[in-house]
Amino acid sequence: MKVLKGGTLIDGTGAGPVPGATIVVRDQRIEAVTTRAGSDWPSDAEIIDVSGMTILPGLIDCHDHMAMHSYDLAWRWGISEPQSTRALRTAKVLQGTLAAGYTTVRDAAGLDTGFKRATDESLITGPRLVLSLCIISPIGGIGDRVSPSGFSCCVPNDPLLPDGVVNSLADVRPVVRRIVRAGADVIKCATTGGASSRPGHGPLDGAFNLDEMQALTDEAHGLDRRVMCHALGGRGLRIAIEAGVDSIEHGCYLDEEPELLDMMAQRNIFFVPTFAVYEYHRKSPFPHVRERARHLQEHHVASLRRALAAGVKIAAGTDAGGHGHPSNAMEIECLIKAGLTPLQALQAATGWAAECVGLERDIGTVEKGKLADLVVVAGDPLSDVTMLQNPERIGLVLKGGEVVANRMEKTPR
Ligand SMILES: [Zn+2]
Repeated sequence: MKVLKGGTLIDGTGAGPVPGATIVVRDQRIEAVTTRAGSDWPSDAEIIDVSGMTILPGLIDCHDHMAMHSYDLAWRWGISEPQSTRALRTAKVLQGTLAAGYTTVRDAAGLDTGFKRATDESLITGPRLVLSLCIISPIGGIGDRVSPSGFSCCVPNDPLLPDGVVNSLADVRPVVRRIVRAGADVIKCATTGGASSRPGHGPLDGAFNLDEMQALTDEAHGLDRRVMCHALGGRGLRIAIEAGVDSIEHGCYLDEEPELLDMMAQRNIFFVPTFAVYEYHRKSPFPHVRERARHLQEHHVASLRRALAAGVKIAAGTDAGGHGHPSNAMEIECLIKAGLTPLQALQAATGWAAECVGLERDIGTVEKGKLADLVVVAGDPLSDVTMLQNPERIGLVLKGGEVVANRMEKTPR
């Protein structure tokens, strides 16, 4: 038994902070959450004094690319360095992400099931992983690995990261099944281009027809997999929502069609805006990427505000990878700058995020019965959320009741 005693609790439900909170952890789960100042703990209990610190649920990033380390074509094709070097580079990112307080990450393509196995077998430490493996799109969509010269990718597909290109309506279901066979927990697809996609396939350019997307969501749901859909605006955004995906990733131009936001609220479709990635795209060396990222910025902020007003739940996702792996908590800061309150932004990275990835029974909030995924930070993140990006402020990280990072002695209170 572990007893985290006397901290200020922000429980991830959206409720305000509770001072003087004590969390009792037995094995993997939270046994009690109390403000009772008891001292009659069992003799074998490990008492951890967290007074002066804040206890949060383990943080969740709903959109990351842990195995991606550059937008460069050779990187994306996996030919720039030995596979083993790349795998170890990825393992280091997983370890750092967990130590920073991110106990769960939904990977939006690129990470294969071997990393999940490696963390399960304790070969490396890392967050809980919800994997999509690859992106499903039609020919010419963002999952189609063609170079700017028009040549196709010169290396065969890794069988653990199946080809996500669908050629026709008849192709949709087999592609979904193959990706699930390779171990996907969630199905990732794309119905529009994006800021960084090839010239000619931008944020408002569609991919897929409604019947194809309906087949995709039907097949995924039949296999108990949620659908996370990259969709920025225009016809493709509407098709994704009409087809019943479970989350809209990016959603930059949702403000242009407010009725879509009402549909999202009614159908409990989450909005994962991924503001952090566009900070980098606005400084991209490629003019078409810069231009798109700058054009969408105002719409993106307006989309967030309208989504909140419409009752759509927001989940935090960084879309990191291509530009490296800055602190995942950067997205929480971006969400506040775009209009969320600090409490809402923390909820977007905890309680709402857990619902978005379908793990709300086990994680996302600090409540009796849930897995003890907890972060203890020095100071008050509600007054300055940027502290979550400072590794020196992260005192303690628990994943499933186990201490996976501990610098309590060095952490100022
Ligand atoms: Zn992404």
